[in-house]
Parts: sequence; C-alpha cells; structure tokens
Amino acid sequence: MRYLIISDIHSNLEALEAVVADAAGAYDEVICCGDVVGYGADPDAAADWVRRHARITVRGNHDKAVAGAADLEWFNEAAQAATLWTRENLSRTNLDWLASLPEGPLEIDGFEIAHGSPLDEDEYIITPAHARRLFPHVGWLTFIGHTHIQGGFRLHRNGVEPIEPLWEWESRKEVPLPEDFGNLINPGSVGQPRDHDSRAAYAVYDTEKKIVELRRVPYDIDTAARKILEAGLPEPLAYRLRLGR
Ligand code: ZN
Repeated sequence: MRYLIISDIHSNLEALEAVVADAAGAYDEVICCGDVVGYGADPDAAADWVRRHARITVRGNHDKAVAGAADLEWFNEAAQAATLWTRENLSRTNLDWLASLPEGPLEIDGFEIAHGSPLDEDEYIITPAHARRLFPHVGWLTFIGHTHIQGGFRLHRNGVEPIEPLWEWESRKEVPLPEDFGNLINPGSVGQPRDHDSRAAYAVYDTEKKIVELRRVPYDIDTAARKILEAGLPEPLAYRLRLGR
C-alpha cells in the first residue's frame, strides 16, 4: 500500500491541487495529519477534498478552533481573525465534519498519525531535545504535522538523529526507516510551509518498500496570496507564503 501523507493544508487550494497533481499515480490512499483549514482563503474547497479523499484525518488545533472546540486565547491575532473568518465561510457540512474529526494518535496499517505529538495534539516537536522525550512513547513509525517543518527525527535509546530537509534543488528524497529506531516523520505543510522553502510539502509512504519519500512541489503562490488579501484576511498570512516561514 502507498499512502499520500498530507498535513497543514490551511485552506490553500492552489497548494493542495499542486500536491494532488504531483502525487498522481504514486499513492493508493490519503492520510491527513490535521489543520485542513485556517489561514487561507479556500476553507470549503480544501475541506471538501480532504473529507472526500482521505481515509483518515486527525484533527489539528485550527480544525478544533474553527469547530468551536478550542479556546482562541492561545492563538495570535492573525490566527484568531482567520479562525473567525473561516467559521463564517465554511458550509455546515464541513463544520460538522471538522467537529467530528478524531484526536490523534491513531493507528493505521502498522503506523501512527498525530497532529502535534503522540502525547499531545497541540505540542510542537521542533528540536532534537523535544523529540528525545518522546522515545519511550513512539512506535516504529509515526507521522506528525503542526510545526510546518518537513523532516523529523529518528529516535534511538542512545540519541536522536534529525532527518535533514530537502535542498532547494531537490524535489524528492527517500528516507529509509531503520527497524530499531522510532521514526518520527513530518511530511511538512501543504499550504503554509515554515521551513524557509515556499514549495508545498508532502510525503509518500510505501508500506512494502518501507520507505518514506519527502516531496516538494512549487504552486501558484501569487493566486493563493491574492485570494487571502481579497478575502480581507490579515496581510501577513499572504506575504508569509512567499517567504516560506
Ligand atoms: Zn498548522
């Protein structure tokens, strides 16, 4: 089985379409690590696609906030404004769907998915020290999102190895999954990358070959950014797409 692993789409339809086109033929099922909505101008279209195509989606903090199941006080001003705007601009069907999304971690086909970390859906795993604490709690393979930083960590009782991101001239990179490690993999963010690479990020996992491929694909940032400004969403949400951070 080959899984398309996506996360942090954040209502960016142009990025999602580029990922789906780029991944065509490379996957059998879709798995989503959350944050389908929030920040971008196409929440309904993004939610429609994920709701119809993903076999399993765990909820992200933005999905939870838009559905009214989380306190907005932890969000910065732009995220709060985007949450309220998204709530107003989503169909009832998609609001109900967001509210119904399960909390991670969930186990699927020998691996796990979570939004933030397997211990806390809202936790950001950014540094090796963060990742190291998780060693006793992770199995062989876990996909997480939330940081919008592609890569992840290999955890071992003797230490942590960061999984290096792609260079800007690379669009694909195979990541082997050693048996005796806890492999914590972040596919990156489809719709709002924050790892200084503005291209949409995703991953493909092949259960037979036991290999994850991290991928990047350019998308129409100008259109996505223009729609954010036209919708009256906070301007930094448009500009940061070009910066990839
Ligand atoms: Zn996110």
